[in-house]
Amino acid sequence: MSSQSYHYTRSGEQNIGMFGRFRSRHNRAASLNEDILDCCAVDLCTSTIKMDAEDIDLRLCFRIISPSKSYTLQAENEADRMEWVNKITGAITLLFNSQFLQPHYGRLHFENKNSDGGASLASQSEDSNISVMDGIYSREVVSVSKILRGIPGNGICAECSAPEPEWASLNHGILLCIECCGVHRNIGVHISKVRSVTLDVRVWEPTILELFDNLGNAYCNSIWEGLLVVDDERVAESNAPMKPCPTDAFQYKEKYIQAKYVEKSLIIREEDIPGIPSLSIRIWQAVQAINVREVYRLIVTSKSNLINTIYDDIVHQAEAKDLNLGPMDEGHQHDPEACLRIKETNETDRCFRGWSLLHLACHSDSALMIELLLQFGADVNMCDYHGRTPLHLCISSGKNPLAKFLLRRGAKPSVKDAGGLTVLERAMEMGAITDEELFIKLAESQ
Ligand SMILES: [Zn+2]
Ligand SMILES: [Zn+2]
Repeated sequence: MSSQSYHYTRSGEQNIGMFGRFRSRHNRAASLNEDILDCCAVDLCTSTIKMDAEDIDLRLCFRIISPSKSYTLQAENEADRMEWVNKITGAITLLFNSQFLQPHYGRLHFENKNSDGGASLASQSEDSNISVMDGIYSREVVSVSKILRGIPGNGICAECSAPEPEWASLNHGILLCIECCGVHRNIGVHISKVRSVTLDVRVWEPTILELFDNLGNAYCNSIWEGLLVVDDERVAESNAPMKPCPTDAFQYKEKYIQAKYVEKSLIIREEDIPGIPSLSIRIWQAVQAINVREVYRLIVTSKSNLINTIYDDIVHQAEAKDLNLGPMDEGHQHDPEACLRIKETNETDRCFRGWSLLHLACHSDSALMIELLLQFGADVNMCDYHGRTPLHLCISSGKNPLAKFLLRRGAKPSVKDAGGLTVLERAMEMGAITDEELFIKLAESQ
């Protein structure tokens, strides 16, 4: 199938039985009756598509969920499933983004033609409309994929080196081929969050693109596959599988990706060594310096979970004495008077007590660093000693674009600080809010 094509007509040997096991979850008995498979119309405008990887019973299945009914379809193999999911997701995205939405547009027909051994999906829409929208849609997509593919190492899949990878793992900052993407999806969202480079157009916000631009397959693999680069013998000893090539079997790629990200058997571990600054101090400094690669490296290679590092963890460490850690530097003493002032006012950067790395990234005014920390699971609503969230911090210091960014990423404006005030109340304390969009977002939660 061509990526521009909207007519889903497939025929030939490999597709026999694509919808042979078409069944509705709510009516399994009826689904045994092949007669009902002849033709089903689904309104894609109001539908979503879901993968069923977590359910062993539904291996190779995907679901099209419409308001009236859920259809579970089973593909022949993983690549076939990804292709169907890709194309249908593309059609949904296209419809959703379309400003030329027509009343009868976007009805998708499943036809089961067991007699001639072919399955087809045919759209009822008019070709003229599609070509206009394809044009709009593809321009956006081309620029995103052009940016992503231009990053060092991103011309090939990070796992198997297949050319022109069209999928991405957001939290790992890498591009993947369709098959390795399937493996990443199977290992779970807590390990890897996969998205399409060409189809998930909304995901590719400027900060995500900037993050990918700062990382890239080459750099990320130098961390995740550190042992491969350094010493082949050590890999042989550890029984870790060797890097797969594009033609290797799916099971082999699966084994490799499992070893790489779940068992983390190819990472050169970073550990605390007496005499040099601890990992928590080093990550604090790297966030402060907006050193994306160093923060990424420290999080991946550390055995402890550095993402939850707070200021209080590091301020009493002996090595911290010589470091410029912030306003509380002098003597590292907690100053109750200064703290009281913070409780009453918007002078939030007078005390770092209880600050998370995310608070620090906001203080450094870096959306890029915030993006990286959030991708690694930093808590966007974590409060410091004074009950201030990163959102409080941005509002109090007039960083409105950053505040809006945090709100888009799940920051809760309803949290009250130790002074008993919400973000909106703190903002109004500072005078009129000139940013209308920000005001609406904050007011909505009151
Ligand atoms: Zn691959
Ligand atoms: Zn304080």
